[in-house]
Amino acid sequence: MSALPPFGTPEWLDAGTHRANGVAPVTPHVSRTTTWDFADRAAVRAAMFDASPGTFYPRYGHPGIIALEAEMAVLERAEASLAFASGMAAIAAVPHALLGRGEGYAYAAACYGGTHALGRDLARFGFSSYRFDAFSLSDLDRVLDQGVRVVHVESPVNPTGRVVDLEATVARVAGRAVVCCDGTLLPPPLQRPLEMGVDLVVHSATKFLGGHSDILAGIVSGKRELVTRLEKWRRLSGGLLAPDDAWLLRRSLATVELRARAENETARMVAEWLANDARVERVHYPLDREFGGALVTFEPRGGEEAMTRTYDSLRRIRRAVSLGGVESLASIPIDTSHVAYGDDEFEKLGFGRHAIRLSVGLEPFEVLRDDLDQALHEF
Ligand code: PLP
Repeated sequence: MSALPPFGTPEWLDAGTHRANGVAPVTPHVSRTTTWDFADRAAVRAAMFDASPGTFYPRYGHPGIIALEAEMAVLERAEASLAFASGMAAIAAVPHALLGRGEGYAYAAACYGGTHALGRDLARFGFSSYRFDAFSLSDLDRVLDQGVRVVHVESPVNPTGRVVDLEATVARVAGRAVVCCDGTLLPPPLQRPLEMGVDLVVHSATKFLGGHSDILAGIVSGKRELVTRLEKWRRLSGGLLAPDDAWLLRRSLATVELRARAENETARMVAEWLANDARVERVHYPLDREFGGALVTFEPRGGEEAMTRTYDSLRRIRRAVSLGGVESLASIPIDTSHVAYGDDEFEKLGFGRHAIRLSVGLEPFEVLRDDLDQALHEF
């Protein structure tokens, strides 16, 4: 048997499909095998020493993940993509793969709580770690002066939807560090951070890329040289996406643009409606942008008591963590996604303790409006 086809070639992508009786399946098979039978020792050695084998041992890659990564790279316009078992596995891989002992990781002050907790904990593993304000270039300068080698930002930011100026950030970093953007809240093609100059874009694919609240996954995309280094870490940490979830995620990519556009449109209508309701004190949604995403965060007038009552009164919108599914979900950031932050930090992050975060799905606007209307109370 000859060596495996090279990374990304059509032969390589076909690794999971089998032509029989003159026909081939339109969608790929799920290949769950954990090992492959080789013709002879030379073939085993060729696979073992191949840079990116997809049919050798699944921790190194498997046909389903290879097909997914190739499609994701096209969607993200990246040189290469790499799939992980969760968004956090992907985010944590970046400092572990790219930093040496004592080198610095800078993470945005406003980001998903898990990323915040990771940044805080990295010092335990021998890295220096700094929190900075991603909306202040002078604060970025401060951390760059400390010898930071990886800068992590999130845009739009969970749960306020604030948008980081990625181009200005990249210009200020000026090649001194790898810039990684968590683009979970606005999937491609609505946002492509790589086109704004960042080196890596990471997604919790559990959210909009997966889109159906049925898989946990993460993806990193960017320059091949960086992705290759991340892949080495993935082999050691073992946190890659399993075949069934890789299959589901690849399937979901076909509809991500349709879903994201529809959810974006409904979310904007929900945000506008909430902003005009006297029972609502504040709405967080980037109405000034063409694509603001599908998260709408709002603060009912009347503080925490009003928030709890509104939340508990929802009938159609589900009270659930996570986001990005086809069904609308409501969560309370201070209890869930942002629980890693101290009590005094929420206002600094731009939202109140009584904020409710909506992840808008594919229901008609009227259904969501009527549910919110009956749930909001006068206080
Ligand atoms: N990044 C953002 C913006 C998120 O909202 C989340 C999860 O809520 C994550 C990363 C972590 O992703 P996962 O839960 O897939 O590990």
